[in-house]
Order: sequence, then C-alpha cells, then structure tokens
Amino acid sequence: MHHTLLTPLDKVIKMAKKHYDELQKNNIVTVQDLLSHFPREYEDRSHFTDFANIRADQKNILLGEFISVRTEKTRNNFLLVKAQFRENTSKKIIECVWFNARGIDKTLPLHQKVMISAKAKLSYGKISLQTPNVQKYTGESSEGLFPIYPTLSFITEKWFFRKIHEELLPQIKNGNINIPNVVPTHFLEKYNLLHKKEALLILHYPKDKISLQKAQESLAFEELFVLQLVSLYKKQHIQNIQHTSGVEPIPLNAELMKDFFTTLPFTPTNAQKIAIFEILKDYEKSVPMQRLLEGDVGSGKTLVAMCAILPIILQGYQACIIAPTEILAKQLFLGIQKFITEAEKQNFFKKYSITTKENSKNSKENTDNKNNENTTLFECEESEGIQTEFLSGSIKGKKRENILERLRTNQIQILAGTHALLEDPVVFHHLGLAIVDEQHRFGVMQREKLLQKASPHFLQMSATPIPRSLAIIAFGDMDLSVLNELPPGRQEIETKVITESGRRTIELFIDDQIEKGRQAFVICPLVETSESEGFEDLRSVEEEFIRLSTHIFPHRKVAILHGKMKPKEKDAIMLDFKNKKYNILVATSVVEVGVDVPNATVMVIEGAERFGLSQLHQFRGRVGRGNHKSYCFLLHTKSYRNERLSAMETTQNGFELAEMDMKIRGTGEIFGLKQSGIPDLKMANLMDGRKIIDAKESAEEFIQSGDSLESHLPLKDAVEARKKSMVSQ
Ligand code: ADP
Ligand code: MG
Repeated sequence: MHHTLLTPLDKVIKMAKKHYDELQKNNIVTVQDLLSHFPREYEDRSHFTDFANIRADQKNILLGEFISVRTEKTRNNFLLVKAQFRENTSKKIIECVWFNARGIDKTLPLHQKVMISAKAKLSYGKISLQTPNVQKYTGESSEGLFPIYPTLSFITEKWFFRKIHEELLPQIKNGNINIPNVVPTHFLEKYNLLHKKEALLILHYPKDKISLQKAQESLAFEELFVLQLVSLYKKQHIQNIQHTSGVEPIPLNAELMKDFFTTLPFTPTNAQKIAIFEILKDYEKSVPMQRLLEGDVGSGKTLVAMCAILPIILQGYQACIIAPTEILAKQLFLGIQKFITEAEKQNFFKKYSITTKENSKNSKENTDNKNNENTTLFECEESEGIQTEFLSGSIKGKKRENILERLRTNQIQILAGTHALLEDPVVFHHLGLAIVDEQHRFGVMQREKLLQKASPHFLQMSATPIPRSLAIIAFGDMDLSVLNELPPGRQEIETKVITESGRRTIELFIDDQIEKGRQAFVICPLVETSESEGFEDLRSVEEEFIRLSTHIFPHRKVAILHGKMKPKEKDAIMLDFKNKKYNILVATSVVEVGVDVPNATVMVIEGAERFGLSQLHQFRGRVGRGNHKSYCFLLHTKSYRNERLSAMETTQNGFELAEMDMKIRGTGEIFGLKQSGIPDLKMANLMDGRKIIDAKESAEEFIQSGDSLESHLPLKDAVEARKKSMVSQ
C-alpha cells in the first residue's frame, strides 16, 4: 500500500505513545511534518580532525575509540562522567567530560570505532572535550554533511535521526511513500531545480554544501510559488467581488496629467511619475486596481493619491480617502484640497470638467450650512467645482446628515475621513476609488467592509519602507508601486547616537532650539515606571515628563502623550503641539504615525536600542518637515557605541534601514509588518529577491496559462494547506 506526505506518522514509523503524544502536541502529525523537521545544522564528517589540529572553543569531529569510563562527584555534588578517548591517527589519549549526564557511563561504547563531535577546552595546557556527541562509525556515514536535528522537549536529536533515516527515508527511496512534485515540472526545469523527492532526501543528508544549497533553493521555490498562488487567487477573488460594481475602463489621458502637473508648485519626482503611470495603466484594464504604494515619509504620496483621484472623479465617480486617526485623515484631506484649490485657481477644471451633469447643484446652500466645529484648527477652503468633504466620528447631527445625503446623491466627489467612513449609513452614489493611508493599521476586516461598499479601485499607501521582495511576500495579493526617492532639496536630518554622558549637551541644545522658536519631541519606550521591570535603566514617559518639566525645562511648556490616553485627548494634545502651545512633547511610540509638525526640529529617542531601525526611522521622519534644519538624537543606555544604531547616522534611506533590520533582527521586526501578518516560511530565504520574483512570475504564468489546480492535485493540496495556515495566523 502506498503512503503519501499526508499519511499519519504512526502508520509508517514505530514509536512509543509518549513520543507520539509529544509530537502531536507540537503539530508533527503526518509524514510531511516529520520530513519538515529539518536539521538545524550539519557536521562535515568527511574529514576528521586529528589530534594535532584540535581547536579550542570550537567544535571538532574526531574518529577513535573510548578505552575507559568512570564517574566522579564534584565537591558540590555534581556528577561528572569522564572517559578516555584514543584518537585514531595519533593514538593520543584525550579526556572527554559530561556534566550531570547520569547513565552515559553505562551506555558509552568501549573499544569500538566511533565519531565524536565536541567543543574542545584548553585548561592548564590540557585539552578536554566537553559533552561530546557520540555516533557509531560504520565507515559509510562518514561521507557528506551529517544532519543534527533540533530536539523537542525530551525527544532527542538521535531519536529524530533514527526515525527519519532508518524508517522514513528508506520508504521514500523504495517508493512506499510517494512524494510527487508540487511545482509543475516545467518550472523546475526552467529554473534548474530539483524534484521534491530528491530535494528532501538531500536536505536530510547532503553530500556537500553545493547540493545542500540546491535542495534548499528547490524547496524554497516551492514554498514561494505556493504562497504566490494563494495570493493571486485571493487577488482574483477580491477583484471578482469588486468587479460586480463595474467601473468602466478609463483610457489613459497623458495630456490631462501633464496639464495638471503644470498647476503644481513643484515638479513631480520620477518615482512619483512612474507610480502615477502604473495607477493610470490599472484604470485601463477591465479588472479593478489592487495596488500598494510604498514610500518613505515625505516621499510625496499625497500627490500620487491626488493623481489617482483625478481620472476617477472626472469620469463622474466618487473617491474616498481613509486614514487611521482623525488628525491624519484631516492632514491628508487638506493636502488633497490644496492641490484642488490650486488647480481650480489655474482653471484646470474648466478645461476638464466632470462628466456627470448633476454635480455641485446644491453646493451654495451647503457652504452656508457648514458647521464650523472642525475648522478652528484646520482652515478648510471650499473649492468650487469639485466638492470635497471630511467625515469622522466626531462629526454628528445635521452636519453629518447633510454629508451623507450629498454623498448619496453624488454631490460630493471626494470624501476623506477616518474609519467612520466604513460604517453602514455611509452610502456612496458610485464609489470608484478607495485610498487607505498607513495601511498596516488597516485590517483585513476593514478591507472587506470597504469592499461591501463596492469600491472598484483600491490603493493602499504605506510609509513603511520594506524591501520589494518582502513586500511581494507580505502583500502578494497587490501590485506594488514604490516611491524610492525623496523630492530634491530635502535637508538631511542630522542624526547622532548619544550615550548617557552626552545627555546634558543635548538638553542645552534643545533649549537653544526652543529659544529660536523651534519645538522638540522626546520619545520614551515605556508609559509607566512599573512597566520597566527588568529594564530598570529605561525611562518611562511619565518619569521623563516630570523630570523634564520640573527639573530640566521648568521655564518651558512640556506636554505628555501616550497610548493609554483617549483618542480625543491625544488628538487635542497633538493639535496643541502643532499649534506651538507646547515647546516639548514627551511621548511614547504613539507619535510614530505621520502627524505633520513643521516647526519641530529635534527628535530625541530614549532607549533607542529597544526599537527597530525602521521604527527609529519613522520617528525621525516626524522632524525635518519644515524649512529648518533638524536633528535626531538616539540615546541608549549602554556606554559603548551601538553599531546597529550607528547605521542611522549614515543613512536616511528607509529601505536600506529596513533591509538592515531584516538582516539583523529578522523580518518580524520590520516596523508594521507584524500587524500585517507576514506568512511563516520555513525554507525561503527572504533576502533572496531574485528567487522571490521568479516564484511570483511562475505563479502568474501558471494562472495565465489557464492551467487548473485540478490537474495538479499535489499543488492543490499545498495551496489549500497554505490558505488554512494563513487564516489561522
Ligand atoms: P508622504 O505622505 O509620502 O509622507 P507628502 O505627500 O505629505 O509625503 O509630501 C511631503 C511634502 O513634500 C509635502 O509638503 C508635499 O507638498 C511635498 N512634495 C511632494 N512631492 C514633491 C515634489 N515632487 N517636489 C517637491 N516637493 C514635493
Ligand atoms: Mg502622508
């Protein structure tokens, strides 16, 4: 009878109930699961170290035999097992030591050829080997890279070795367990990859590093290929839902864009032009756009959003823009309005009028109706032709009714706001485009809510710069546009890593900046001191607020902001700070999102080593938004220089910093990615951009070729399994 990867383990290998239960508990249930318990490292046992070449403090692999063994008790009652090992070539004797390893003395094979691998220790001129791993030497197993398996509670690496190599792999070799290819063979051939069965066999006992790498690559490709397929099917699914609301394809009008560009106070960057072009190309298709626009803080995403909106509203559809907080939404709204007002001043909309006839019928009376509750801090200019509106939870009563009514009857072309826009009573006449800013805060559920409003085109904007390859993995169901350059003439934010001894200098510097009329942020890792257990040297925002406001800057106005405050309170403080009512804002990471305070020139980050580089970069982006030279100081609690933090001094490029973060701390640490749920990958090295793109292209080719999963059942299974794991994530 043939078994497959999905056969329960106990059908193909023998094991005790105790082991069975422990494996189940750790989700090792099927043949596939055990095969995926990959070696954690390999030992090159093809060349043994002889006595003369033993290296201290390093792993050595020796061939020889044990000639005697004894046990000893130390003074504090520790058990030591000591054995004499005779090395094969030199015939010299080396002492091996195990600590508290009861029983070793009984099971150690004496006078038999064995391989041992162990760290060597040199003390008082004598070499000893610590806690060696012992394997019988058969002559045969000396070839290749010996696999060392990760242990799992009481299950030893030897147990895994025996079960995998003596019971599982032989059945794969003789065909009793069938391992079909998941990736269609023509892709394997195209990229010179191994068949799955071969790759798995190699991975569990490679001949050499080159074949190991090839096996890893082959399995990584499979993993990525499947992941991309899942993403593409998801994209298709979403587009199908969106499609039902039907926005007609909009032909690309280059003339219109050029004309609009002439109304701008600056020339768009190349990156902006490319992103805009990519969006306009999407509008020409009969399937709705699903695009992610990634761009560092200040890269000019608002203009791209504006250009995405233009063709949509000129066709008579509506557009909406959503941001996670009221203050951010308002900022974005004003940014868009500014573009529109300027374009109107220059008669742009006279030339390109909106296709729909019924527009702005009631605009006069609505202007009169205008409730002023939100205009005290943000002056909103009303534009004539294009009607824009702002909606958030705090807009209630008549004003809200009025907005909803005009929205339903197509008298509003652009609605900006918070998630309040997603609520059921908000009904569009014909929504053509939805833009969401700061996407990592925008959950899947919210996205679906938006889809229920039948938004055909969808643009997510994110200020989290992540490497393209990673974006493909994390947001595979979207096309990607990247703003990889900042507008020219931006001043660098001078960045310095500071140790405790430099604190006073910084404080004097801040005072000087305040004297010049500027403002400063101070970011602390914790809210209260009670959180700091185990991190006694970390400063809490409350402590720091008291210290700064009463001791250091008693003559200045200091405010405090943290995530435990109510959203309304937070917004109020942020606005007051923006309006220069405070000189210094002491805050936790809540300021990470893009609130614009052009007058702030100093960013101090306490306990900087606690943050990832991409998050530090986000903080830094809070300053340098005006015309004044700006500074970022990274304080860290250790007295030595911190190399990771030093990277902040040398680069202002968020993509580079994210890439470094990824190398040093792993993908999970990339700011914002945790929230967006990066899939769990076993094999795929996320750094290898080329392979990721190969896998993506292959998945696209597979779908375009019209090939169905039904004719590739192993692939179908893999896709289903991946889907399931993504849902449960
Ligand atoms: P983001 O949202 O990507 O952080 P914004 O859209 O807020 O960035 O733009 C930041 C600032 O740069 C704004 O003041 C905007 O007017 C300006 N800006 C945008 N594009 C350009 C450009 N091509 N040249 C000069 N300034 C630009
Ligand atoms: Mg922005």
